[in-house]
Amino acid sequence: MPKFIHSYYDELPGFYTELEPTPLNQAQLLYHSKPLAKELGLEDSLFSADNQKIWSGETLLPGMKPLAQVYSGHQFGVWAGQLGDGRGILLGEQLTASGKRMDWHLKGAGLTPYSRMGDGRAVLRSVVREFLASEALHHLGIPTTRALSIVTSQQPVFREQPEPGAMLMRIAESHIRFGHFEHFYHRHQQEQVQQLADYTIRHHWPQWQEQPERYFLWFKDIAERTAEMIALWQSVGFAHGVMNTDNMSILGITMDFGPYGFLDDYAPEYICNHSDYQGRYAFSNQPAVAYWNLHRLANALSGLMTTEQLQAGLASYEPALMAAYGRQMRAKLGFFTQDPQDNDLLNQLLDMMAKEKRDYTQTFRSLSEVEQTSSSIALRDEFIDRQRFDGWYQAWRKRLQQESVDDAQRQRVMKAANPQRILRNYLAQQAIEAAEKGDVSVLAHIHQGLMNPYIDSPEFSDLARLPPDWGKRLEISCSS
Ligand code: AMP
Ligand code: MG
Repeated sequence: MPKFIHSYYDELPGFYTELEPTPLNQAQLLYHSKPLAKELGLEDSLFSADNQKIWSGETLLPGMKPLAQVYSGHQFGVWAGQLGDGRGILLGEQLTASGKRMDWHLKGAGLTPYSRMGDGRAVLRSVVREFLASEALHHLGIPTTRALSIVTSQQPVFREQPEPGAMLMRIAESHIRFGHFEHFYHRHQQEQVQQLADYTIRHHWPQWQEQPERYFLWFKDIAERTAEMIALWQSVGFAHGVMNTDNMSILGITMDFGPYGFLDDYAPEYICNHSDYQGRYAFSNQPAVAYWNLHRLANALSGLMTTEQLQAGLASYEPALMAAYGRQMRAKLGFFTQDPQDNDLLNQLLDMMAKEKRDYTQTFRSLSEVEQTSSSIALRDEFIDRQRFDGWYQAWRKRLQQESVDDAQRQRVMKAANPQRILRNYLAQQAIEAAEKGDVSVLAHIHQGLMNPYIDSPEFSDLARLPPDWGKRLEISCSS
C-alpha cells in the first residue's frame, strides 16, 4: 500500500480549503499508466475491480487529507484575481520507495470554494488530451506533471454540448504555481508569501535552507528551470497554449494541458488556442511570455529579495534559455561542437521549412537519417526550391566535416534529439473518439508508441505518418 503524508495540509494552514472529492455517478476506471504505477511502486491490485473507487476519490487511502489549494494569477496579461483550484483536489503526498514525495491530485473532482462559475468537472476529451500530452512530454525528456489514471462516467458534463465526465489522477512533485505566490502578494499578505517560499525551499530545495541568500538562489533556479523547459518545448515543437501565470509551475515543469498542440508544419506563428485572438501564446512567443511571467513572480517575491537580486535572477533566464536551446538544436543538426555559423544554418533551415510548410518533426528525422557522403537525398524532394535546399545541404555537409565523429555516431545523436513520433493533434483526437465509445485500444496504442519516441519502431510506424488533411485543420476547443 502506498504511504501518504500531508505536509501541505500540516504546514500551510490558510493556504487551502479542506474538502473531499464529489463522486461522479458510477465512475469507472477507464485506463491507467502501468509504467508510472510501477515507478510509484503501486501494486496491480490497486487497479482491480475492487479498488475502482480509489481513482475517483471515493475511497481515500490511509494518510490522505484532501484539500483544494488557493491561488490566483495573470490570464492573458491581465491580473485575474483568485482562480483556483476550482476543480482539482490534492488528495495527499505519496512517499515513494526512492524517497520522493509525489502529489496525487484529482482533476475534475467537483466543486470547491474556488470554482467561480465553473462546475468543478472535467470532460473525457480534455482528460485524454492531458493524459497523452503529459506522458508524451515526459518520454521526450521534458519536465512535466504525469498522468496515472483516467476515470469516466456516463454522468454528462455540459460544455458546448453534453460530454462524458471524467477525472484524471495527476502526479507531480508539487502543484505550486507562480499564481500561489501572486495570490498572497496581491492581498498584501507578506507573511504568507514568505511562509510559502520557506515551505517550497524546505521541501524542494532543502540544500539552500540555511543559506543567507536562499531566496535569491531559489528564484534564480526557478528562472533557469523555466528556461530549460521552454527551450525543450521549442526544440520539439510543443505549444502550450495557455501560459497564464496560474499554469506556470514553481518547479519549472509543464502543467495544465488545455488546447496545446505539437507543430505539424513548421509555423512559428502557430496559435493552438482558438480563444487566443491576439496570438499572445503563439509558438514563437513562448520564450518571451515565460520571461514576462517570471517578472510577475519577481513582483510577488519582491518582499523577500533586493531589487538587484530580483534583477539578477531574471537576468539568468535568457542565457539559460539560449544555452539550452543551442544545445538541443545543435544536437538536432548533428553538431557536437559549437561554431559561429550554426545559428545561421539553423535559421536558414527553419526559414525554408516555414516558407514551404514542411513538417517539423519529419524534416529533422529525415535529416538524421542522411548519409553524409550522398550528394542527393530523399529530403531534397520535399522542397520546391531545390536550389535553395541544395545550397543549404552543401553548407550543412561542410559544417559536419568539422566534426570528428563518424556518420553512424552522428546519426545516433541526431535521432536521440529528433523524435520519430510526437503526439499529433489528430492522434489525440482518434484516442478521444474511441475512448468516448468505451474503447481504450487507440489510447493505449498511442500511449505505448510515445514511450520510446526516438527509437524507430515498425510496430508504431502509423504514429510517425504525416497528419491527414482533416487532422491539420482540427480546431481544439479550449473548454475542458
Ligand atoms: P485553466 O485556464 O484551465 O488553467 O483554468 C483556470 C482556473 O479555472 C483553474 O484554477 C481551474 O481550477 C479553474 N477551472 C477551469 N475549469 C473549471 C471548471 N469546469 N470548474 C471549476 N473551475 C474550473
Ligand atoms: Mg490552470
